[in-house]
Amino acid sequence: MLIIGSHVSFGKDQILGSLKEALNYNANTFMFYTGAPTNTIRKDIEDKYIDEALSLMQKNNIDINNVVCHAPYIVNLGSKKDLSKYEFSINFIRNELKRCDEMHITKMVLHPGNAVDISKEEGLNNIVEALNTILDGTTKCKILLETMAGKGSECGCTLDEIAYLVKNTHKQDQIGVCLDTCHLFDGGYDLSDFDSFLNEFDTKIGLDKIGCIHINDSKNVLGSHKDRHENIGIGNIGFNNLIKIIYHDKLTNIPKILETPYIGENDDDKERIYPPYRFEIEMIRNQEFDPDFRNKIRAYYKK
Ligand code: FE
Ligand code: FE
Ligand code: ZN
Repeated sequence: MLIIGSHVSFGKDQILGSLKEALNYNANTFMFYTGAPTNTIRKDIEDKYIDEALSLMQKNNIDINNVVCHAPYIVNLGSKKDLSKYEFSINFIRNELKRCDEMHITKMVLHPGNAVDISKEEGLNNIVEALNTILDGTTKCKILLETMAGKGSECGCTLDEIAYLVKNTHKQDQIGVCLDTCHLFDGGYDLSDFDSFLNEFDTKIGLDKIGCIHINDSKNVLGSHKDRHENIGIGNIGFNNLIKIIYHDKLTNIPKILETPYIGENDDDKERIYPPYRFEIEMIRNQEFDPDFRNKIRAYYKK
């Protein structure tokens, strides 16, 4: 069965709000941040919302094991330049895993980190050390390292870098990978030959390590290292290549999560107000691109 959803918000009723938003998009999974992705201010998780969310999931045939949390992207495990920040990041991620355990969430996506003013090698080693400190046996939720676009000093933008991080993590049952199609394409992986990409992944890391796939088209061309997501079928990866990835028979049980941009009043509008996910999910289920889908989104939310 296709497991498809999108990034959703985590409102005042926490995971219950996220779930309700996902149901509005006709999704059967979702991904959320436990607060703003750009800060580390977090509220306590409330049991009542978890209980209600779990029963609503059951009613809608949503398996909590397919629901994914995303760590905020401002924590950085790659740099010890400011040691107190490094330690803060380690503590924060450890607490985030605890919050996931409380919510029965089994997968948390993490941007590996940035090698600020140091070599990639040093950055990768800082990350490995942090991962081995965080995964100390007191939590259960898995960390999925996201493949990055290679913007600035980002670590984890090649399969070799991801392999190095995965292989050197002691707790093998708690480490995995989240593929991001936009990031891979931006990092120079031509996804039109996805079978050979998966073969390389299997040789270097192992297909069983894939725990989630972020489905995004890319605003920029192959290898541009810019990390600008685009709506499905509008960007340079293209609808058919994304469909081949989404429906690949080796990835059937992996949750697929859209992180595509909102739609503006006009196609080139800077202010983006309408979520595209309901319609992108529909196109994905139909396996057919609708060139008019952005207008349909506008019409849907205006009525
Ligand atoms: Fe991410
Ligand atoms: Fe992503
Ligand atoms: Zn991105």
